[in-house]
Amino acid sequence: MPLRRALDASDNAIVLTDSDKRVVYVNGGFTRLFGYEPDEVLGKLLSDVLLGPYANPDLLTNIRADVLTQGQTQGQFHTDTLLYGKTGQPRWVSLVINASKEDAGGPGGSISILTDITLTKMHEVLQTRVLEGMVNELPLPELMTLACREVERIAPEVTATILAVDAQGLLHPLAAPSLPATISRALDGQPIGPKAGSCGTAAFRNAPVVVTDIASDPLWDGYRDLFADSGMRACWSSPIRDHRGQPIGTFAFYFREPRAPDALHQRLVEVCLHLCALAIERDSTHQRIHQLAFFDVLTGLPNRALFRSSAERALADLQKKGRPGALLFVDLDRFKQVNDTQGHAAGDVLLSEVAKRLTQGLRARDLIARLSGDEFVLLLSECTTEQAVQSAHRVLHDIAQPLDILGQTHVPHASIGIAMFPNDGDTIDTLLRHADQAMHQAKSDHRHSMQLFSAEMNRRVQERASLERALQQALAERSLTLHYQPQVLSSSPGTLHGVEALARWNHPQWGMVPPSQFIPVAEDAGLIHELTLWLLDEACRQLAAWRSAGHDVPCVAVNLSGRSFHRPEFAQEISDALERHGLRTSDVLLEITESVMMDARPVTLQNIKALHHKDFKLSLDDFGTGYSSLSYLHRLPISELKLDMAFVQDLTTSATARALTVSVLSIAHSLGMVVVAEGVETTGQQQWLQAHGCPVMQGYLFGKPLPPDEIEAWL
Ligand code: C2E
Ligand code: CA
Ligand code: CA
Repeated sequence: MPLRRALDASDNAIVLTDSDKRVVYVNGGFTRLFGYEPDEVLGKLLSDVLLGPYANPDLLTNIRADVLTQGQTQGQFHTDTLLYGKTGQPRWVSLVINASKEDAGGPGGSISILTDITLTKMHEVLQTRVLEGMVNELPLPELMTLACREVERIAPEVTATILAVDAQGLLHPLAAPSLPATISRALDGQPIGPKAGSCGTAAFRNAPVVVTDIASDPLWDGYRDLFADSGMRACWSSPIRDHRGQPIGTFAFYFREPRAPDALHQRLVEVCLHLCALAIERDSTHQRIHQLAFFDVLTGLPNRALFRSSAERALADLQKKGRPGALLFVDLDRFKQVNDTQGHAAGDVLLSEVAKRLTQGLRARDLIARLSGDEFVLLLSECTTEQAVQSAHRVLHDIAQPLDILGQTHVPHASIGIAMFPNDGDTIDTLLRHADQAMHQAKSDHRHSMQLFSAEMNRRVQERASLERALQQALAERSLTLHYQPQVLSSSPGTLHGVEALARWNHPQWGMVPPSQFIPVAEDAGLIHELTLWLLDEACRQLAAWRSAGHDVPCVAVNLSGRSFHRPEFAQEISDALERHGLRTSDVLLEITESVMMDARPVTLQNIKALHHKDFKLSLDDFGTGYSSLSYLHRLPISELKLDMAFVQDLTTSATARALTVSVLSIAHSLGMVVVAEGVETTGQQQWLQAHGCPVMQGYLFGKPLPPDEIEAWL
């Protein structure tokens, strides 16, 4: 029958069933695809013949549901599904069923056409699974195990293994889910070579190696015994190559009988080699990126990002156990100096050595990181405050061992701040911040020391931060004001020598903030210069205004910060301020402190010289409190000394204060300097100073610092 021959010749499997769903006909294509002769299936249910271990369990239900929902006498169903041949060989097929329905008046029975799509499907399944695994960041061994398992599912006669080949040419098992673990362990670290089993040889030759009989092939001489009990009789291994074609692994098929691979195996391996190469290369790129992203290149220590994530886990762990921990913030002392004077290479040596010393003392459960520059942190798990202090002392001691840097002996030192978990903070950010604060405290107390964090410390830091923000705003809004305090002649206390301009800050919420509080903040926050320029301008403006209103104010004294003298243009800025308001240099007195006088920076000296050239008068403030080095006085063009109020206030009670004051007055007199006594509050002080020839006085006795209009009234 030509029709039957035509059907038999078809590559598709064709199956006819009767109304009882029993097979009444299969064509030659069916036999070729599944291995069953017609008489093995005739009269049976197709599902009894073709469903196997991994077939879709819902297949029949789906077919019935689909066919039934169509109301006509004919129903059609189409799906791609996994079926099994006679030898258990899995076959992906595209299945089309045309069913005629008896209950809807049809003759009953069906025609099914099955097309083999194993190759495309296999490709698709493997690729999807492995790529999905990559997307989900499965670790490489898991990903490779998955690939082996998929292969073994598609070809149950195969045992698949994947080995990695490292840069030294050593093998490392990545996946061998169906081989005994003892074999994998024994293979780990074996060198590739010209006679190193199928895999070692394939990697060595960078070409596939087919060993059809392990028992007799000389390539296996070194491995035969290891595999003796495994039941493996043949092994075909192919190199996995990276994008440059270099072998980075091997992919092997083992068989339980002596044989060579067939076409399906070839195709499977082709697909897998590609995926394995992708996965292995991706993994090593990942590792390199990880190294770059999470480790400090110089010291090899974890960086801040890695430290944070590991520390978070460590803290969660401590929390669970209810145990304390300690965060040590370690900062090198004078590191910048080494870098600046001996160069960056020296700095690098120092940092690497310190990193080594810090790491040596650590226990396995402790964490360490280099945060930046010369900052390191340690997280000590299960560590009490006492132990943390002990550890900090040990670290200080370890770091302070002499070390040779590019031919010079150097003794590194560090300061350490400690914050305790959970008392000083229960997140890594809080602990870092608090340990940092404590470290700064340690530095300012005295270097080479350690300091525990305290809540008081934190409160001060917070307060300071908000003070700084508010001050910045006040400066921007120009809401600071100046008060002026009269300075009077001793000989005639009603006569003005000048006024001192003093900054006042009336904060909308906090009220009057004393300059002793906000001036140091302005200094630290880098705002002092802006403040100085503003007060200079404002004092000049005020003096000019008084003069044009007919008030006789001889001069105004302004307080200058030492920091402004670090700016090369400072002397010029002062002149500019005077010029803006039409004043002369003799109209202002520039008050500086002893720290300016002691400052050896060339820029400071240049500013002082420039001011002297312009004929400005300098006044030395708070004399007697600082270095009080009289020997410096004649070196700089100082025209006035302000005797600190501490002296003035001791005059009536302390003979020493009186003796010192007498000598200061006489030295100043002989150097041609004016002395202004500050903080004169009583007539007793006034009389004594007057009797001993102090020419100018300033203090509450004569007038407090007053707003400009009250100064006018005072006049
Ligand atoms: P200073 O320059 O020594 O200013 C004198 C301080 O003594 C002023 O305090 C003044 O109010 C106070 N004083 C004056 N007479 C008496 C007295 O008889 N008894 C007592 N107990 N105190 C008296 P103030 O205004 O609080 O300023 C404190 C410090 O803040 C100043 O000390 C100065 O170092 C700094 N400062 C104030 N204004 C400025 C400024 O505009 N710029 C800079 N750089 N510093 C300023
Ligand atoms: Ca002053
Ligand atoms: Ca003073």
